[in-house]
Amino acid sequence: MEFLEKIQQAGVVGAGGAGFPTHVKLKARARWLILNAAECEPLIETDKFLCRNFADRIVAAAAVTAAHLGAEHTVIAIKGKYEAEIRALQAAIDAAGQSIEICKMSTFYPAGDEQTMVQWVTGRSVPERGLPLDVEAVVDNVGTMLTIYDAITEGSGVSMKYLSVVGEVPHPVMIHAPIGTPITQCIAAAKPLLKEYAVIVGGPMMGKVLADPQQIQQAVVTKTTGNLLVLPRDHYLITRAGRPMERLALQAKTACIQCRMCTDLCPRFQIGHDVQPHLVMRNLYREQQTENSEEWVRAFGSAANCCSCGICEMFACPMGLSPRKVNEYIKGRMRERGIQVPRNQHPEARDSLNLRRVPTERLIARLDLSRYDGLHASDDCLEIHPDRIFVPFSQHIGKPAQPVCKVGDTVQKGQLVAAAAADGLSANIHCGVHGVVTELTDGGIWIAAKEG
Ligand code: SF4
Ligand code: SF4
Repeated sequence: MEFLEKIQQAGVVGAGGAGFPTHVKLKARARWLILNAAECEPLIETDKFLCRNFADRIVAAAAVTAAHLGAEHTVIAIKGKYEAEIRALQAAIDAAGQSIEICKMSTFYPAGDEQTMVQWVTGRSVPERGLPLDVEAVVDNVGTMLTIYDAITEGSGVSMKYLSVVGEVPHPVMIHAPIGTPITQCIAAAKPLLKEYAVIVGGPMMGKVLADPQQIQQAVVTKTTGNLLVLPRDHYLITRAGRPMERLALQAKTACIQCRMCTDLCPRFQIGHDVQPHLVMRNLYREQQTENSEEWVRAFGSAANCCSCGICEMFACPMGLSPRKVNEYIKGRMRERGIQVPRNQHPEARDSLNLRRVPTERLIARLDLSRYDGLHASDDCLEIHPDRIFVPFSQHIGKPAQPVCKVGDTVQKGQLVAAAAADGLSANIHCGVHGVVTELTDGGIWIAAKEG
């Protein structure tokens, strides 16, 4: 079986982002293969753990992927302060005799943003709303590399996931769980310090906030879950996430002092994209009255280039306003109105780029997370054996997978249980336990695990 076919069969998707199917991303030729090991968001431990413990597999998968792409440069981009991880990766590179460069980044947020990373490594800015491939680069997370390794060496489908549990736990822990495991079971294994808690699935800047106990009970580990941040329910990050859009809009109209800190610290603005949240905030008062599409683009078009990194609202704004959420709202309105915003295909980084990086430690302090920082996960990893899993059909960008099993079927660990949709972007889904299918819903498959 060919390289891409093995990856497609295994249902490999981007482990560090939104779950773009990897066999589609790698259907390309590129000069640069960049492995993202920067662990973009504060507190997360997963990529560091993978680099320390599976460096040889990551390097082996990188070599095969680079050969497939015809890449002239293979680079692992990682924060320079991750010394143990760099040592492990360098030892694996030397042992394999591969020509892979380790690029040491400074400790800022969002170092792991794909476009920020491409600019740092290659010196070229990706076009607005473009892809790294537009500047001859492919970026893959180290977790994705590990699943590529399993796919090409053992033919294994993606059915298990490594993730960290951090925050209100005695120590950050690493978890290895079947996809579909309830997140409450992962948190219980980490011995949470609170009986009642909220969870951010992912990192504190871009993760999904779950404050409602029912939502927390229903959430499961998916192919893209890399971290669970356990927090008190009244933590700033949780209460802030619950503010309704009407209130945020009213605050924007009445309290924005037009200091433009949101724009000046915006990482996409700094790599040359037209992202100017201060202008969107200034114009918000006339959103309802503006009918003309060209006028809309002039007043609000820059919101289209926002990547929702959150720097503007979680770090930059001295007034505690929410330019990110306003941009997201405006993007929705532009979709409704069918407004197309022109794209700059040749952006160039601004001279101020290196002066406007947001140091991760200062960001952590601003987010009121300092007490959880610096407590690294050990290399022990807790294996989770759930009694029951729920495997969602949609864990990737594109169309949901279609079930290929029925209620009452016995399924084996690693077995295909939902096949990629026949047309369009989609991905196969495999089972992480031995068990019996107990229920099929519109959203996924319930499987009761059996011993053995
Ligand atoms: S969230 Fe804010 S800082 Fe981030 S890209 Fe959007 S406007 Fe820029
Ligand atoms: S940083 Fe805040 S106050 Fe300043 S321009 Fe942006 S939204 Fe307005």
